Amino acid sequence: MIQASAVPERDEIEIDNRFEDDLNALLAQCREHLPTVDEDMIRRAFRLSYWAHRNDWRESGERYISHPLQVATIVARDIGLDDTSVAAALLHDVVEDTELSLDLIREEFGETMASIIDGLTKISGVFESRELGQAENVRKLMLSMASDLRVILVKFADRLHNMRTIKHLPKKKRLKKASETLDLFAPLAHRFGLFTIKSELEDLSFKTLDPEAYHHIVDRLKEMAEQREAYIAQFVQPLEERLAEEGYEFEIYGRVKNVYSIHRKMKRKNKPIDEIYDIFAIRVVLQSDGKRGKEDCWRVYSLVTDLYKPLPERFRDFISVPKSNGYQSLHTTVFGPKGRRVEVQIRTQEMHEVAERGVAAHWKYKEGKKNVDEEMEKFLEWVRDLLDNPEPDEATEFVKEFRLNLYDEEIYVFTPQGDLMTLPQGATPVDFAFKVHTEVGMQCIGAKVNGKMVPLSQELTSGDQVEIITSKKQQPNPDWMNFVVTHKARSRIRQWTNEERRKAAELGREMWKKKKDRADLEISDQDLQQVAHELKFPDLQQLFYEIGKGLYDPGELVDHIKGQADPEEDDEEEIEDEEALKERYERFLDSAQSTGKQTLVVNGEVQEDLAVNYASCCNPIPGDEVFGFVSKTGTINIHRSNCQNASDLLVNQADRILDVDWSRQKDVQFVAALRLMGEDRVGMVNDITEVISKNLKTNIRSITIDTEDGIFSGTIMLHVSDLEHLERLMERLKRIDGIHGVYRFEE
Ligand code: MN
Repeated sequence: MIQASAVPERDEIEIDNRFEDDLNALLAQCREHLPTVDEDMIRRAFRLSYWAHRNDWRESGERYISHPLQVATIVARDIGLDDTSVAAALLHDVVEDTELSLDLIREEFGETMASIIDGLTKISGVFESRELGQAENVRKLMLSMASDLRVILVKFADRLHNMRTIKHLPKKKRLKKASETLDLFAPLAHRFGLFTIKSELEDLSFKTLDPEAYHHIVDRLKEMAEQREAYIAQFVQPLEERLAEEGYEFEIYGRVKNVYSIHRKMKRKNKPIDEIYDIFAIRVVLQSDGKRGKEDCWRVYSLVTDLYKPLPERFRDFISVPKSNGYQSLHTTVFGPKGRRVEVQIRTQEMHEVAERGVAAHWKYKEGKKNVDEEMEKFLEWVRDLLDNPEPDEATEFVKEFRLNLYDEEIYVFTPQGDLMTLPQGATPVDFAFKVHTEVGMQCIGAKVNGKMVPLSQELTSGDQVEIITSKKQQPNPDWMNFVVTHKARSRIRQWTNEERRKAAELGREMWKKKKDRADLEISDQDLQQVAHELKFPDLQQLFYEIGKGLYDPGELVDHIKGQADPEEDDEEEIEDEEALKERYERFLDSAQSTGKQTLVVNGEVQEDLAVNYASCCNPIPGDEVFGFVSKTGTINIHRSNCQNASDLLVNQADRILDVDWSRQKDVQFVAALRLMGEDRVGMVNDITEVISKNLKTNIRSITIDTEDGIFSGTIMLHVSDLEHLERLMERLKRIDGIHGVYRFEE
């Protein structure tokens, strides 16, 4: 290890003139953008980095020092945080790539710098190692971020410079870096409000990953530039005159969206670039601040709409309710000359800097600080919440949700007390409930939005007032996983389901032990595992779970094991053609339909002998979220809450809705419909009917099969006792060779 004393003094190091110039340019940037600059610290950091990297070269053939210098320049100019981050940027690769130790950094620059460099070294190492899954990378990244924000900010700058010089890398590395940037760094930068950096990261990645599409957009933008600029000038001119008359100090300009955003918009709208109307927005930036600034923005809004007629539904007030990355602005869309729709963004200089440079800009504006700290604290809380989840098999899920949460636009909803809550777009009452409190989420049975009962799966929209109805008896429903979007809701429901599974498996193991002892059977766990595989269980745990849940009869298991011991008793492989099988099942149809008494709980009380009808539009079965709808004849129609007719009934005929739940009764059979997709192969129908009839003692009501071009699709109506039974069955069907999808559907 190198001792600090071994590092020569600065004037003993011969420094290339070019880099002297670059260093001076960096210091100039620092003086321009940072609140205070410790020039000596930056010079010392440069000296150390220069010396440490003296034998290193970039892929481009340049001296390595050019990289940390450029990274530091990005930190100073585009992030504008503080001088410590600039010095850290200069040193960011030193510990990882050279023989200098962290102790030496600590000795020279103190504890804070050492911990930032340590964080940077750790994330960097994580990204270079191929063994670790992406999720693990994200986790490390978040951990480092939660310790010191500057780590991640320097990392953004590092990534940006690497993306700018990506053409020097071999193709495989280029693609890997670019997709990682697009997947992870750009959304993360967005979350921190670093808009400028996010846009450039996106465009550089996009250019690497899909050069053709990228250049198509860039070329078209160039072709349209003259026309666009003329239009902007025409739009802006009368507005400038008005604002000047009113004595405002301001800047107005047309801002073109970044290439990747245009690409996304084209994809989403499925339109060519010429038909995207909001390729640019008009931006008004006012020299005005504090409380006055907000008022001025509103005043300017009024001037804009005097000139151009607004589309009221496209108005957004992000000043009163900032986005969670701190973004503030008034947005409105107006009809400009020639009737074209034009988006106008109105903000003060301070808001503008936050919009471009995010959290870092708040360092400069002390009065804005409270707000950003609060928002940042919320964000870090969210990070910690994510990290709280130690189960490794959740890794992929984690990354998926992480991305979802980063990019999605947000909605703003209210509690009954009028408190504001921010949720990601697509959030449902269940997400809301978990956000209020874990207990509220665990026990929610219903929700009222703006005073009306809605299905728990209904998507909330901004401005909704949401009230959650809870019951102590309620437990989370695994079905909720199909519609919740927040990490907290997902992880809590999953934890609960896992715990339930574990308990059931434990019970199943005990039941099996008793059964086995009674049958006088000796079998090791290892052999039993083998048997479980033969029976198409993924593992022993699943076998025990199904026994515990009463889905699989341990007697069958005994029979199977005994049957194996005596090969004579092996089932004959019956080869029947598929047509014949279909017929057999169709004949056997309705004979199986149960007529058992159907018990429901209405408004909390058990009701027997009710005139109940299970709606054929959605075929509800016990375990489904349901509601009752009183028909004109007095029959109670039971619908699934996610039935396509549900929202109409719940919202428009709320007075006829009954709160209905299931009693725990098993001997009634219900009809459910499944759709299966897969490869067309010999024996497919046989395998399907065998799984259904043999393994789970389920009766088929009808089965229709279509095959075309080697694709198999089937529709099965069957009798099941409840949701769990159905889910179990779906699990089994999915395991059949060649089956790609099993879906429940409404007829
Ligand atoms: Mn680097």
